[in-house]
Amino acid sequence: MDNLNNPKYKYFDDKFSKQEQSYPGVQNEMTPVPDCGEESYKGSDRLTGRKALVTGGDSGIGRAAAIAYAKEGADVAISYLPDEESDAQEVKEVIEATGRKAVLLPGDLRDESFARQLVHDAAKELGGLDTLVMNAGMQQYINDIKGLKTQQLQDTFTINVFSNVWMLQEALDHLPEGGSVIITTSVQAFSPASLLADYAMTKSAQVSFIVSMAQKLGQKGIRVNGVAPGPVWTALQISGGQPPENIPEFGQNTPLQRAGQPVELSDTYVLLASDSGSYITGQVFGVTGGMPINM
Ligand code: NAD
Ligand code: MG
Repeated sequence: MDNLNNPKYKYFDDKFSKQEQSYPGVQNEMTPVPDCGEESYKGSDRLTGRKALVTGGDSGIGRAAAIAYAKEGADVAISYLPDEESDAQEVKEVIEATGRKAVLLPGDLRDESFARQLVHDAAKELGGLDTLVMNAGMQQYINDIKGLKTQQLQDTFTINVFSNVWMLQEALDHLPEGGSVIITTSVQAFSPASLLADYAMTKSAQVSFIVSMAQKLGQKGIRVNGVAPGPVWTALQISGGQPPENIPEFGQNTPLQRAGQPVELSDTYVLLASDSGSYITGQVFGVTGGMPINM
């Protein structure tokens, strides 16, 4: 039956082959290629006429959100690093095939002026901005805290935390009543691994930002929420996110015993952006294969 699948076996549940790329990685060179809903996600007009910016929308979880939003009727701008142009072009094709507008805005979120201008460029190209998905992120594993370089610490905090603040400040010029802000945090915010110490701190900081901004922006009729993925098969993991020897069994330590695919997060991003989520704000939704997200 198409509507009743054992979640353990619904997507790839075997060992991944060892693979490694340099940061930020491109997913069109991964085996298997992550499922971001190109074929598997079906829309049902839940975001007709909406205008969304998704950072890191070229690949992985951001790509799944961008594709789902377009299939639900939204025009979508994505940002990504210039090295990821080939992934971004694929997303553009999928969005345009739905009949929606796709806007490509490459650049580096470590650059404050780019991060700020990105929001205004997206609003200009889309003719407004009602949904901001801050999903771009950096994760580089460390073997021990002594080996953590200041450059990595700064980059991880700048991309994962500072850019969220900069972009939200600018987005307040555009977000209308009913607008939605969604931040991709992580299970690492709640169960930090020592090999991801710096990354996990940034993900906790995002949770605190989500809750504090929801308090304030609720008064304006703008909702702010987060998604906390568990282990999901994306380029981030094979480009320094995990030690290469952890890749074959990546995700198998979850209760569902496999890694998630980005498309399994699509509905959560759609719900949090859509009118159906009208009473949901200041929350973090776990999509983790069963890993707990309570502290
Ligand atoms: P991904 O590599 O497909 O996407 C991350 C994106 O971040 C990249 O595509 C890139 O465009 C963007 N990015 C990275 N550095 C950037 C920079 N300097 N400037 C601009 N953009 C930059 O991987 P993903 O797993 O889909 O990651 C999306 C989000 O999900 C991240 O915030 C990550 O922390 C979070 N997350 C992922 C997992 C997982 O298991 N994959 C688990 C929990 C949380
Ligand atoms: Mg990418």
